[in-house]
Amino acid sequence: TNLQKAEKYLQRFRDTGIQNRIGGKDMDGGDGETFETISPVDLKPLCNVARGTVGDIDLAAKTAMAAFKEWADFPAKDRAKILHEIADGIEARAEEIAFMECIDTGQSLRFMSKAALRGAANFRFFADKCLTARDGQSLYAPGQLNVTNRKPIGPVGIITPWNTPFMLSTWKIAPALAAGCTVVHKPAEFSPITARILLEIAEESGLPAGVWNLVNGMGEDAGRALTEHPDIKAIGFVGESRTGTYIMQQASETLKRFHFELGGKNPVVVFDDADLERAADAAVFMIYSLNGERCTSSSRLLVQDTIYDKFTQMVAKKAKNITVGHPLDPNTTVGPLIHPEHEQKVLEYLQIGKDEGATVAAGGGRPDNYTTGCYVAPTLFTNANNNMRIAREEIFGPVLTAIPFKDEAEALEIANDTEYGLTGYLWTSDVTRALRFSDALEAGMIWVNSENTRHLPAPFGGTKASGIGRDGGDWSFDFYMETKNIAFAM
Ligand code: NAD
Repeated sequence: TNLQKAEKYLQRFRDTGIQNRIGGKDMDGGDGETFETISPVDLKPLCNVARGTVGDIDLAAKTAMAAFKEWADFPAKDRAKILHEIADGIEARAEEIAFMECIDTGQSLRFMSKAALRGAANFRFFADKCLTARDGQSLYAPGQLNVTNRKPIGPVGIITPWNTPFMLSTWKIAPALAAGCTVVHKPAEFSPITARILLEIAEESGLPAGVWNLVNGMGEDAGRALTEHPDIKAIGFVGESRTGTYIMQQASETLKRFHFELGGKNPVVVFDDADLERAADAAVFMIYSLNGERCTSSSRLLVQDTIYDKFTQMVAKKAKNITVGHPLDPNTTVGPLIHPEHEQKVLEYLQIGKDEGATVAAGGGRPDNYTTGCYVAPTLFTNANNNMRIAREEIFGPVLTAIPFKDEAEALEIANDTEYGLTGYLWTSDVTRALRFSDALEAGMIWVNSENTRHLPAPFGGTKASGIGRDGGDWSFDFYMETKNIAFAM
């Protein structure tokens, strides 16, 4: 069974724990301390993990600095070959990666299988870009020729969160390597397993030792030390908006470059001329897939008042039919949330929503039949307004808040009345309105008549409190490289 297979994959981590890996060598945390990671299914321990210290980060950063020149000068076609081999390695171990991701995070196999393969696709995409990553241009002026090129910025720190941690790690690390940067990776403390597998695959693919270093540990010490280290030239961070502000402060002394992918409170806006069946399916997918622990989730459902009752009933029915279960059960859509602390936070928001006077149209608490594990039923609040905390704060769970609007102007006002600006989803058959609305909607990414489907060359990132900078295509290289201009007098 899947459970037995998962236990087999897990056994080595149970036996040896997860060590840090610096310069191609396994290492305990500096003072020998470890922390325990637990299964969100039953809260039982999974394995012990090295708790990285300031000293470990220092060693990892210096190692990444020492490896930088060789990797930056590595022929582009050889960098491409290694990145393709990493993609091959991910594909070969996709089942193991997906199973471990499910066990570590509680996210369901149907999505984690895809996330593992998306990790391979990320490496392949950036492998193909190695050859052109540093391309520049020449700009002519009378009496002057400007030659512009790009060079890797140096060793970079990558700090990742616990939601889809494998896919997100590949999304940040693949372009860094393609650019010619070396890496120190600090994964989230709640979900460290697949980051370790990923680094093993990279080393087996021929990546020189020291190019990619892994230090586990807590945000407040290992994460903080990484952001403060003078050898680290840029920080690629994915996580909460609040953590982004801490990182900016911590890194200010060393004047680092930042790329922040932060929180969201993304609207899905449904007009009465939309294909309602498709819109309902997409709205349900965008909030309940990945347990709602997804930065791009559509957590605010804005529905035109003429169809509000009908549409929210459609969504409620679909939400009630969602299969909640063990993350390794192929039929499961919603698994347990990452950790009891996070489950508690989400359950508190359910109480807040009720206290604020919203109606529970689906879910509203732990699902029946679950006495253990971090399970929360897919929940829909109706009769809500945008001033409620459930409409303003990022809950990061399977909780949708439905708000009515009268017309396009009111929809836009509500949609933009948020501190966040990551994504927006728009459902209408009026093309002119779709163009007008998308133009005015404050978000980095907007999908019209579609759920979130990624095209890797397109830019990914948020505005307002949702982020700084863009990933994807050449946008990733703007972050990982310095642009240099040389002007020749003629
Ligand atoms: P988090 O901010 O708590 O932690 C993220 C990472 O930062 C972890 O590795 C943590 O150890 C580290 N960290 C914490 N404090 C730190 C500090 N002071 N200095 C350096 N590092 C520190 O986020 P989380 O709870 O793990 O993840 C969920 C959040 O991530 C949500 O807000 C979600 O929206 C966001 N997210 C955004 C995107 C995006 O693309 N915009 C994608 C995924 C997740």
